[in-house]
Amino acid sequence: MKLTILGCTGSMSGPDSAASSYLIQADGDGRTWSLVLDMGSGAFGSLFRYGDPEAIDAILLSHLHADHMSDMVSCHVHRRWNPKGPLGPVATYAPAGAVDRVRGVGGDPLEEDFSGEFTFHEFTDGGSFEVGPFTITSHAVVHPVPAYALRVEGPASGGGRAVITYSGDTDACVGLEAAARDADLFLCEAAFVEGRDTVRGIHLTGERAGDVATEAGASRLVLTHIQPWTDPAMVADAARTHFAGPVELAATGAVFEV
Ligand SMILES: [Zn+2]
Ligand SMILES: [Zn+2]
Repeated sequence: MKLTILGCTGSMSGPDSAASSYLIQADGDGRTWSLVLDMGSGAFGSLFRYGDPEAIDAILLSHLHADHMSDMVSCHVHRRWNPKGPLGPVATYAPAGAVDRVRGVGGDPLEEDFSGEFTFHEFTDGGSFEVGPFTITSHAVVHPVPAYALRVEGPASGGGRAVITYSGDTDACVGLEAAARDADLFLCEAAFVEGRDTVRGIHLTGERAGDVATEAGASRLVLTHIQPWTDPAMVADAARTHFAGPVELAATGAVFEV
């Protein structure tokens, strides 16, 4: 499996990156399959550069905060009004209410249901589904709105199967730990800083991301969703004090193979 970072700035678009979006690809049945996890502001433009917006097999929205889904309106326009003709509906997995959220961002009328562009499915806690060679399991996590960590199992680059887990937005919780259990790569948010952001139930810090990675037995930690006012190196250093494995930082265009 190949993970490409399309956008990784926390809570907003930033000077060097779109907001949250991640492309996971793997080969199966003689072709390459592509999942897009989250579609934050600016992410759809990044998909033109690092992927192919016409070759998305499924979209997975971890939750419906705008920094994780606002470019769904760009994707909608691209699919409906493409000069080649409509691209048709793409399977879209999200918490309940996704149609209303996309309609709200787009300023579309109530009768708009996007059925020509997206086929919406709702995540359930612990539910699994398959897309091509991928098996995806959603785990409910702790955030101010319904949110899910996503465990993506697919073909490993060296043969066999591998797991990439994406935290979405969450504080430490059992759902996140279950999603990251023995993951080959744990793509984990670390938006907050210990001592600065004291409110709980919203985001992780570098230390807490490291703790979850350790408890889950993840092999490798990639930190993301770091806000533009925070020094990423400081967050990575904090995670290293709580996780003994490799700690890296997500960056636009970065590619990770598992
Ligand atoms: Zn966010
Ligand atoms: Zn959020």
